Amino acid sequence: MVDQVIDLVGDTPLVRLTSMVEAAADLLAGARGEHRGAPRRGAEILGKLEYINPGGSVKDRIALAMVDAAERDGRLRPGGTIVEPTSGNTGVGLAMVAAIRGYRCVFTMPDKISEEKRAVLRAYGAEVVVCPTAVDPDDPRSYYSVAREITRKTPGAWSPDQYSNPDNPAAHRATTGPEIWRDTAGRVTHFVAGIGTGGTISGVGQYLKEVSGGRVQVIGADPEGSVYSGGSGRPYLVEGVGEDIWPATFDKTVVDRVEAVSDRDSFLMTRLLARRAGLLVGGSCGLAVVAALRLAGELDPDDLVVVLLPDSGRGYLSKIFNDEWMYDYGFLEPPSDEPVVAEVL
Ligand code: PMP
Repeated sequence: MVDQVIDLVGDTPLVRLTSMVEAAADLLAGARGEHRGAPRRGAEILGKLEYINPGGSVKDRIALAMVDAAERDGRLRPGGTIVEPTSGNTGVGLAMVAAIRGYRCVFTMPDKISEEKRAVLRAYGAEVVVCPTAVDPDDPRSYYSVAREITRKTPGAWSPDQYSNPDNPAAHRATTGPEIWRDTAGRVTHFVAGIGTGGTISGVGQYLKEVSGGRVQVIGADPEGSVYSGGSGRPYLVEGVGEDIWPATFDKTVVDRVEAVSDRDSFLMTRLLARRAGLLVGGSCGLAVVAALRLAGELDPDDLVVVLLPDSGRGYLSKIFNDEWMYDYGFLEPPSDEPVVAEVL
């Protein structure tokens, strides 16, 4: 039993994903007939299930850590207001912590964000300010600028700014990394994670490198087009990962290699995880698992890969898990009705 639901943040389980190797063989071989990285039997793969967190994602960890630190040094005081430009998992984590600690929460977000996502934040009692998507980040109407303006004008306002806040990677260094080391009894040899703010991969990577004397390899999984894998910031559809800028929270010195993964492969793997492993997880999980499986194909049986799975698939039912949406983007072939037509003729 716990006193408060935030006492349940962290200590997430590892689940064996090695059975996905066979299930994903065709997908990994690639639609273009490539056989790069098609996995051999061998290296074990474990997924760290972050949707088990009470707010439903890995971001509960940093929300709690950033609020705790701000309270400690007086940046956030009783009755204060938390202001952040976010539509996603960080907002949910902050709203959950704010509900328990009695803070007001204001989130700004672009109007392309689904009503469903706004509704989750409002359900926790947060206020949501919707801003135009089609403006420059520097434009006073952008959701970044509006958040800055609300912070400036509101007495007792504090903006965590997950892209520059050192408590973001520090949370993973203090919790996620040690959990992986403990739960694998120091057997982990490779860590794979997507890179958004870079907080997860930097904090976990720093810890695992230190505790293993540099033995653990750290692999970033990145959407094709994002800057982390050498892209120009070209648009992609996987949410929560990849950037068009390099955030201060990303320590690129701990990353040994970055693997670029297409939207198509990320989403097909995400659907496969639900259907074969019973894991209803988000698109960035599919992305990271593709990278982990490719890697496992190059490794030996005594290697142990841990891949971080950031959130649940519930937030993507109208996209990745919607066949029509997948057809529209060409990620799935619509079923052909030709045989029926032939029969009628
Ligand atoms: N996946 C999802 C769904 C996310 O919301 C995030 C956070 N932006 C990430 C992956 C990446 O985590 P990080 O910001 O710690 O790099």
